[in-house]
Amino acid sequence: MIHYALSCDKGHAFDGWFAGSADFDKQVESGFLTCPVCNSAKVAKGLMAPQVSTARSQESRKAALIDRAQREAMDKLRKAVADIRANAEDVGDRFPDEARKIHYGEAEERGIIGEAKPDQVRDLLDEGIEIMPLPILPDDKN
Ligand SMILES: [Zn+2]
Repeated sequence: MIHYALSCDKGHAFDGWFAGSADFDKQVESGFLTCPVCNSAKVAKGLMAPQVSTARSQESRKAALIDRAQREAMDKLRKAVADIRANAEDVGDRFPDEARKIHYGEAEERGIIGEAKPDQVRDLLDEGIEIMPLPILPDDKN
């Protein structure tokens, strides 16, 4: 997992976890990744501040803080994903159909999770259907 500091074309800063830089590129390309503030799909990796430090102790304290922040962010993410999974029906590759049916009132309104290809994701977003990527966490693989 890679943690990226991100920003949109309007300068909003946020962050995200990705399986790798290729995963990040794929999500940006498919328009899957949007700014949580303004919904812009023009998202780029944020500029990282240069690591300048005068004292070694200061550096290690900073590293510990970043470590803790990343662990806390990961815990939060893990819990959020677990909540979503616990409350949603896994509809697998029927996801685009089900999301559409729920959106148009043809199916019972409920939380669903499933798979969608990038072009299906784009179609759903074009229709104004609210969907969000569910991050794949390292422990979810089994
Ligand atoms: Zn924004």
